[in-house]
Parts: sequence; structure tokens; C-alpha cells
Amino acid sequence: MPASVQEYLEEKRASFEADLFELLSIPSVSTDSTRAPEVRRCAREVARQLREAGLTKVEVMDTAGHPVVYGERLNAPGKPTVLVYGHYDVQPEDPVELWTSPPFKPTVRDGKVYARGATDDKGQFLVHVKAVQAMLASRGELPVNVKFVIEGEEEIGSRNLAPFLRQHKDLLKADMVVISDSAMFAPGIPSILYGLRGLAYFQIDLTGADSDLHSGVFGGAVPNPGFEICRLVARLKDASGRILIPGFYDKVRELEPEERAEYAALPFDEEEFRAGLNVPALDGEEGYTVLERRWARPTLEVNGMLCGFTGEGAKTVLPNKAMVKISCRLVPDQEPEEIAALVKAHIESLVPPTVRANVRALHGGKGWIAPRNHPALKAAARAIEREFGRPPVFVREGGSIPIVVDFEQILRVPGILVGFGLNDENLHAPDEHMDLGNFHRGIRTSMLLLEELAGVPAGLP
Ligand SMILES: [Zn+2]
Repeated sequence: MPASVQEYLEEKRASFEADLFELLSIPSVSTDSTRAPEVRRCAREVARQLREAGLTKVEVMDTAGHPVVYGERLNAPGKPTVLVYGHYDVQPEDPVELWTSPPFKPTVRDGKVYARGATDDKGQFLVHVKAVQAMLASRGELPVNVKFVIEGEEEIGSRNLAPFLRQHKDLLKADMVVISDSAMFAPGIPSILYGLRGLAYFQIDLTGADSDLHSGVFGGAVPNPGFEICRLVARLKDASGRILIPGFYDKVRELEPEERAEYAALPFDEEEFRAGLNVPALDGEEGYTVLERRWARPTLEVNGMLCGFTGEGAKTVLPNKAMVKISCRLVPDQEPEEIAALVKAHIESLVPPTVRANVRALHGGKGWIAPRNHPALKAAARAIEREFGRPPVFVREGGSIPIVVDFEQILRVPGILVGFGLNDENLHAPDEHMDLGNFHRGIRTSMLLLEELAGVPAGLP
């Protein structure tokens, strides 16, 4: 990085932090309707900072819920357009008494800023805004075109984002989307997140007699839905952890040998993981490591059960109802609707003639995987290596981030998921914080990323 840029960043260090603290001092809690004015005030502050950075057409755009902040700079003809996504809304601060300093009064301790939203996601999306500001100030123009979409409903499920993307498809046309709303694998070990799991969720209700019965008078002759639901659930997986639903694994994309080698080389200790959770032993599908099971294999888990008498002491009842909630984490290329149909049909086939069953698929979402050899991901890896002095590790996550699938399906752009947070920064919990060293590192990495992405041909799928 040229000395003039380094100097600019040094000179602006305090003012960049002040801008972050300004955002962090606004309680933009999206789930709390009494705070809607604060959410909007935060959107306006984001817009002000986008303008200050040198973006144009900056606008607080209304949706059916909280607004989206948009800004762009399109002065690099022939170069790719990079869409940056982030969210300015935050989780509620409760329980507020567990915070060391007030959640909306950003406080620096030990080089970390403590405030709700510090790492999720104000501190993370802002690195890209500041990178744009620094590049424009120190070299006059950006090496690529950029568009920013900063939403205010991520913490409540982004329900208006997909409609927004559909409605503004032309405005948002881009070649890739950069998202910083995740963590590095470990301190000093930067990572690129290239895979997420999907979901299929079910509720099963079994019913026997018209009401609960005396287990002495009727037991032994009348069906027990509680027992039948246990038997049914037990038949869904075998002892080796394999899911016994016909067709379930048909579209599962197998791990490549290269991926397995990479996961095995990560600094992850299964015994430490077990001890940290305080379980007597780990569980899972035979033939796969813990990281493989969590990142790249589908699951079937019981999420909840309800049946009969659960109060103190004994009550000799023969329940007439039993309910279980079950969900499957899905991996590419499993389709949630197909899996829902397979699971439903199989469970219905297992129901004995002694009880009535209602099997419902509640909701689902698709998994996601990015092609790791895509030029945009390779460019991101180079940018990270230039800043961190080591290449990033490629990791997946066991959870779902539905907006990544939305961007891919609606705008047809590959996602580059680069996090500058850390897993122990208490997101969604008291004392959320972000390491300010990583904030400034993120700004430098983002500048290098825009530079590297300039070399990626525009219009690649
Ligand atoms: Zn977030």
C-alpha cells in the first residue's frame, strides 16, 4: 500500500472510529416497534456516512418494514461492479444488567469497542464504507464500481429484502456481492465462508383416543401415542447416524478430497470441542469428522417433544396425544421441497394403524455453496493474504444465512463472505464488542479487495 494511503489511514484513525461510535450509539433495535424512529435515525446516519465517503445517489429507501440505505459510485467503466451488503439494525440489548458498560454508549477497553452492534454488523459493514472513503481521498477514484445495500431488518429475518432485490433488480445489477457479517476462523486466521446449510422443518402430531385415559384401566389394550412417536422417531436414523429416509442422500454433494484435507489441517480440536460442551461423548454420522458433520453433512434432529404428564411426581395416565418437532439441516444440492416431501411420505408410511397422524412441513430454506475457484473468490483470497501475510482458510458454516441465497437467486451474483469479527465477540449477547485492530485491518483488506476485484472480468456468472 503506498505511503500516502498509509498516512491517510493513520491520520483518519480516530475519526473513522468516531463515525463507528456514532452508529453504535443509536439503538436501532429492529424487533422493537417503539424504536422504529431510532432505526430510521440510524438509516439516516448510515446515509450521511455513505455521502461523506464519496458515494452518490445515496438514499434512504422505504420498504414495507425498516428502510434500506443505498449508495453507489460508478466511475470505473469496463470494470466489475461490487455490491456490498450489510445491516444497520441490531439485536435487543437484554438482559441489560449483564453489560459492563451501557450497550448504546460505545466504550473502549483493551483495544475493543463494547456496544450492541459492534461486530454484528455496524463495525463490519463500515470497513467497506471507510475503504471507499480512503481510496477516493488518497487516489481520487475507485478501481471498480461499487453499490451499497445496507438493510435494517436482518435481525428479524430480512423479510423485505428479497422483495426489495426483486423490485430494484436493475438498480442493483452487479457482478458479485461482498458480505462481512461473519467471523474469522480464529484470531489472526482470516477465512472465507463458502458454504451454508439449508433447512427443512416438520411437526408431527399423533392422536389416539378422544381423551387421556387411566393407564391401569385401559393400559395394555389401547394405543399410546407417546410410545408410538418414540418408536417412529427411533426409526428415522440408524446406530451409525445415517438418516433412514429413502432418497434423502441422493442429491448430497460429497466432500471433495481437497476440502477434507483442508478441514483436517484447521486448528480445531475435537476433544476440546467436546469438553467445552461438557458432553460425555460426541455423536454423529460415521466416517466423518466433527467439522465435516457440522458443515457439509445433512442432519435430522428432534427439536422438541410434547406428551402426557410432565409435572412433579407420578400420574398414571395414558396420553391421547403426542407431538414432535423435527428438523433437517440440508446441504447442497438438496432441495428443501423435495426433502420435505420425502420425509413426510416416509413418516406417514411408518405410522401404525392404531393412531392418527398429522405430518406437516413447516418451513425450509436452501443451502449454499460458492465455487471456490471462482476468480472473485481467488481475488478475495489474494487481498486477504496481502493484508494478513497468510492465505485465508476456506470454511463453511452449519447454520443458514437466507439472504446469501436470495442474492444468488435474484441478482445472479456470487457471494464473497469475508468476516472481520471473532466468534467470541458476544454477538446477540451482553458485552458485544469488536476488536478495533480488526476494524482497521478490515478497512485495509477491503481496499486491497476492491483493487484485486478490478482484475476480475465483469459479467462472469
Ligand atoms: Zn449480522
